[in-house]
Amino acid sequence: MLQLIQYPHPTLRFASKPLARVDDQLRGMIDLMFQIMYEHRGVGLAANQVNLPLRLFVANPSGEKDSGQELVFLNPVIQKATGTIEAEEGCLSLPGLNGVVKRNKAVQVNAYSMDGKEINLKVEGFLARIIQHEVDHLDGVLFIDRMFDQGEILAEDLAGFEARFAKLRQEGQISTDEILAEQRQVWLDKYCG
Ligand SMILES: [Zn+2]
Repeated sequence: MLQLIQYPHPTLRFASKPLARVDDQLRGMIDLMFQIMYEHRGVGLAANQVNLPLRLFVANPSGEKDSGQELVFLNPVIQKATGTIEAEEGCLSLPGLNGVVKRNKAVQVNAYSMDGKEINLKVEGFLARIIQHEVDHLDGVLFIDRMFDQGEILAEDLAGFEARFAKLRQEGQISTDEILAEQRQVWLDKYCG
């Protein structure tokens, strides 16, 4: 069962690895990722946000299960990015935290769909922002790393997340770094080897 992980869980800093294969288990996990994204009222979710070290993300700019378009990007690579624009962002792995992030206005992304077809998309606006946020996740980068005002408030908020994580770990609800690394390796052997 997949679970949303929060900052500062180490898998969020893991640079995910390209997929070499897709199977029914992975399709099932992608369905679950959409479910988790909708439950938390998100518009995008990267695999490492559910503790999977795989280079894929899901998105639906509408944020609603029955509207908009459900998009799956396998092995996404941003090939071209142009213009800059500032806007507020949030992240399901840092709930309640928002901040202004400068992004490119338009991106050209190369990826694969679930049925193995190559996708070459040129997008701008909200979807371009989502794609940049999610590709960052897959590279182990969080929006707080790019946030404009990294002042005291951010430090306090992050300290809150860090205290919560430390407590969960102490209670045994989050595995040690060594066990997490072993679990990631199992997924890498299965899908990236
Ligand atoms: Zn995020």
